[in-house]
Order: sequence, then C-alpha cells, then structure tokens
Amino acid sequence: VCPLDDRQYALDRRRWRCDCGGPLDLTDPPPFALDRLEGTSLWRYRHSFDLPGEDRPVTMGEGHTPLITIDPDRPQILAKLDFLMPTLSFKDRGAAVLVSLALALGATQLVADSSGNAGAAIAGYAARAGLGCRVFVPAGTPANKVAQLQAHGAVVVPVKDSREDAAAAAVAAVESSDSFYASHVWQPAFFEGIKTFAYEVWEQLGRRAPDDVFLPVGNGTLLLGAAHGFAGLQVAGLIPAVPRLVAVQASACNPIERAWRADAATPAPVGTGTTVAEGIAVRAPVRGRQILQAVRASGGRVVGVSEEAIVSAQAELAARGLYVEPTAASVYAGVLVDPPVDRLVVLPLCGAGLKHG
Ligand SMILES: *Cc1c(COP(=O)(O)O)cnc(C)c1O
Ligand SMILES: [Zn+2]
Repeated sequence: VCPLDDRQYALDRRRWRCDCGGPLDLTDPPPFALDRLEGTSLWRYRHSFDLPGEDRPVTMGEGHTPLITIDPDRPQILAKLDFLMPTLSFKDRGAAVLVSLALALGATQLVADSSGNAGAAIAGYAARAGLGCRVFVPAGTPANKVAQLQAHGAVVVPVKDSREDAAAAAVAAVESSDSFYASHVWQPAFFEGIKTFAYEVWEQLGRRAPDDVFLPVGNGTLLLGAAHGFAGLQVAGLIPAVPRLVAVQASACNPIERAWRADAATPAPVGTGTTVAEGIAVRAPVRGRQILQAVRASGGRVVGVSEEAIVSAQAELAARGLYVEPTAASVYAGVLVDPPVDRLVVLPLCGAGLKHG
C-alpha cells in the first residue's frame, strides 16, 4: 500500500514502488504473538512476517545479537551488537527476509545498490540462495566492502559520484532486465526483517522497552524497522508506548536534522558533504517523510554529530573492546553529545570495524 495515495498492489516480483513514484509499505502485518515464538534466530518471529518464503527461509542463523553495557560507569547505556551478523552488519536482518521472499517469488537475478553493507548482505544471502547478484556502488566505497561483495560472487558495478547515481543506475538495470530489485530502501519486506531488532531488545530487557533508542539514520531502514517493531509490541499490548526514537546523523550530511530543525514534513536534499560515516551519507532519503513522522510520533528528536565526535567515539568503543566502523560509532557519538539522564538507552552498533579499509 502507498502511504501517500492508498493505492494497493499485489506482491509481485517486478513491483517495487507505487505508480506515483513513492515507496510502498505492507498492509496489515500480523500482530506479534507471544505464543508463536520458536527458535533463537530472527526467524523466531516469522509468524509476524506473513510473506511467501517465510516457511523456507534463506538463513545463516542471523539475529539474537548480544545486548551489553559499553561503560561500567554508565550502566544505563546498552549496545546491541548487530555487527556480529553473518555479513557483519545489521542489514542481514532485512536481507534474510527479502532474499527469502525473492526466492519464493521466483527471482533468479537480484540487483542492489548500496554504499557497502546492504549490498554485502544482499550478495551474501543471494550466494546462500544460489541467486545471481549485481550491486551498484558509488565510487569511493571502501575497498574492504567491495572485496566482500566480490567474494560473495556479486558483479560489482562502480558508479561515478553519489549514492543517488548508483541507485539510478540500479533502477535502469532493473527496468531493462528481469531482475528483482533487492533494495533495502524501497522493498517493504526488508523492514519486516529489521523490526526483529525491537522484538529482541524487548525480550532481552526482560519483556520491556527501553526509554530511548538512538539510531543511525541514512536511509532510515533501521529506524523505520525498529519503529515498526515497537509499534507491533504496543498493538499487542506488551508495551505502553513506543520508546523515544533519537535519529543520529553526521552533521556533514544531515537532511533529516535540517528538516527537524526547520519543522518541515519532508527533508530537502542536501549537497554532497563527505563524512567518515559513509554508511549514513544519504543526501535525499527516499523515506524521509516517514522517518520524520516516526521520530515525532515517538517523542524523539534528531541529533547531529561532528566528524571529530564520530572518530573519537570509534576510538572509545575500540578501547572498550568493540571494534566498529565509523558509521556504527556515529550513534554512540550521538549519545555522548547529549547523554540522556536517568533513562534506559539502547543503541545498535551496526557494522564491523574491518569493513572500513
Ligand atoms: C546501513 C547502515 C546504517 C544506516 O542505515 P540506514 O538504513 O541507511 O539508515 C548505519 N550503520 C551501518 C553500519 C550501516 O551499514
Ligand atoms: Zn502512491
């Protein structure tokens, strides 16, 4: 269903956006049901996906990542170690569900575009499923990320300039072939996988939600997926409210932060600022309107972080045993810039440090 004009479409291998050009959501996903949980990977929550393929998942045991304190002096701040996934980022949550759907819909070739981690996740799960995969990446994608894509057997197509150019090249490739567009941004099934982040946090905290969840935001797939998961828990009567969602952006590329400060409903595209957190450097997020809505509805806010703050947060995490990439450290920088007082805070650490090189 299109949230802009309510047009509805059947699930189809070729359908990835509304005829109006906007991104689609899924209609009425089944409610979270406590008596239907089984197993320990994210497929524990498969009853809540309601998608073809959920009965024959493409899986590598993803999910169920640790939730730990970072600093013993700040026991109220908990990190969820989503970099401990099969392809080393949280994107495996969405990729496992999306690639399972693609396989069930009869796809044989996938196309993705990404600055690295989403592509790696799609390429990894495509390899697992025996599907072909082409990934369009912006020039300047870290060499380690490209090497990982190639190791999974994906065809890597570098595109000059920005992520938006890589996305446009991917769309052109999808339109001119029979490929499935395995886009983490456009495909709503990806968010079904991501919502398990919220379910796991809730279970790990002894069946309660934290007060605040800090989330890195580029395209907002983790933020929107988490919002979706917490909303599902609320509908099931298991939590009183969705926790405050605090979106963290690099100040060097901050369309959501600017829209937040201007009290705008939709972000305006920003110029190409470069940031060490290349995983959240998205100038014009497709689901920007939804991101701002989710943050506002939760009573949350948007925080910008400087390059120095990101680099120093990365060093501090590493000094405490957690080696993550700069993009992943940005969210910890956001917590340190403006630490919540007397609140239980959860933040994800989304990508492994070895990715960035
Ligand atoms: C993809 C990614 C993000 C940002 O996710 P969005 O969906 O673009 O908001 C943050 N950190 C890491 C490590 C990522 O791979
Ligand atoms: Zn529409």
